[in-house]
Amino acid sequence: MVNRSVVFGCSNVPKKGVSLHEFPVKMKEWKAWKRFVCRTRNGWNGPTNNSTICSCHFTAESFVNKMQVDMGLAKNLFLNKDAIPCVYPEGTCHSQAAGGLATPTPQPSSAMRKRQVLQVGL
Ligand SMILES: [Zn+2]
Repeated sequence: MVNRSVVFGCSNVPKKGVSLHEFPVKMKEWKAWKRFVCRTRNGWNGPTNNSTICSCHFTAESFVNKMQVDMGLAKNLFLNKDAIPCVYPEGTCHSQAAGGLATPTPQPSSAMRKRQVLQVGL
């Protein structure tokens, strides 16, 4: 059986420039990986032992040896121990939120803005 990327809208298989990565063992990272997949697949109840996420969902900095692989000196990409996937596949509604762990800056409420205008008026 060939492993595939479990991220919805991706299903990459290993090929040149794409490697598959098994879920981390540590609970903190494991949860972050699962949360990432759940954002693309509602109600996903994985991962199983065969679940993998492909390298295209990680930033270049997530890899220990990205440069070596790009230069052809190494074949397989290795992830940093604490790497978390954050790049959504193109064409899904999540792709615009790439890097999407950032929280939007809260806008001041209209009441607050009114108060500021009043203060300026005084
Ligand atoms: Zn993928």
